[in-house]
Amino acid sequence: MKVGFIGLGIMGKPMAKNLIKAGYEVYAYDIIGANVQDLGKAGAVECKSIHQVVKACTTIITMLPNSPHVKSAILGDGGIAEVAEKGTLIIDMSSIAPDISKEIDSELKKKGIRMIDAPVSGGEGGAIAATLSIMVGGADEDYAEAKPLFEVLGNGGNLVGPIGSGNVCKLANQIMVAANLAGGAEALNLAEMAGADVEKVFNAIKDGFAGSNAMNARGPKMLKEDYAPGFRIDLHWKDLNNVLETGYLTGAPLPLTIQVQNMFNYLRADGDGMSDHSALIKYYKK
Ligand code: NAD
Repeated sequence: MKVGFIGLGIMGKPMAKNLIKAGYEVYAYDIIGANVQDLGKAGAVECKSIHQVVKACTTIITMLPNSPHVKSAILGDGGIAEVAEKGTLIIDMSSIAPDISKEIDSELKKKGIRMIDAPVSGGEGGAIAATLSIMVGGADEDYAEAKPLFEVLGNGGNLVGPIGSGNVCKLANQIMVAANLAGGAEALNLAEMAGADVEKVFNAIKDGFAGSNAMNARGPKMLKEDYAPGFRIDLHWKDLNNVLETGYLTGAPLPLTIQVQNMFNYLRADGDGMSDHSALIKYYKK
């Protein structure tokens, strides 16, 4: 089966490679030519434009940075909607604002094009190992059609609700990760300033009630002061902006998100936008 794949960055590249390994004929495109060539070496059909992908495929995955990129790749000049056949299924796996997923979908509906939103959690490691946790919003039958792809890429996905719900779920996920890491950083910094052996403190806590997947993955990086990404502060900051925007639209109170976003603002201004989000502990140390 042919699958289009648009956006071959940190996440998209290994995901597309896993589809090739599973026997799919992948038509790959990215605005960075080197990324397309890399996929070509792995067996993909190298495409020079979005239109070339869309003319070959009626199932298309997008894995792009944020809302404006997805909107432009789907609805913009040279975008998917200009040439897609009626019935084409777009699977947007980027993490974007839920209201933008809904807005794009309502435009696509006018042309008989289907869309589901399916952002992921699990990072580059999960993309490479094909263990991504996939949060899906859309119609039952569209999810059923995409599920074999999700089984190749990760956990097969969880359908959360109608279009936009996958991204609502991802925002909830990102609040929990942000608050968890900020709490962990605050705790470890207090322990250090109170004179404790901070590594022993972390090891004593991590398997108890306060332990978490997020801190088990990022706590050791905080201890080693190893801030290589992982998940860049710039991307988590982008997700929290989408959380805050959704908070304004819904009236949901977000006091914890606002605190952590201010820490990210400080760290980005201090040159840490490209650092892993475990660098939150630098905020406390400084
Ligand atoms: P990335 O910046 O590495 O990759 C995005 C790719 O999209 C780039 O290669 C870029 O050239 C390409 N691109 C941008 N505009 C394009 C367009 N119009 N047409 C074609 N290609 C275009 O980002 P990433 O880390 O792969 O993340 C992708 C999405 O997945 C983001 O929404 C991110 O928040 C989410 N995500 C990332 C991680 C992670 O650990 N990196 C984890 C979970 C979710």
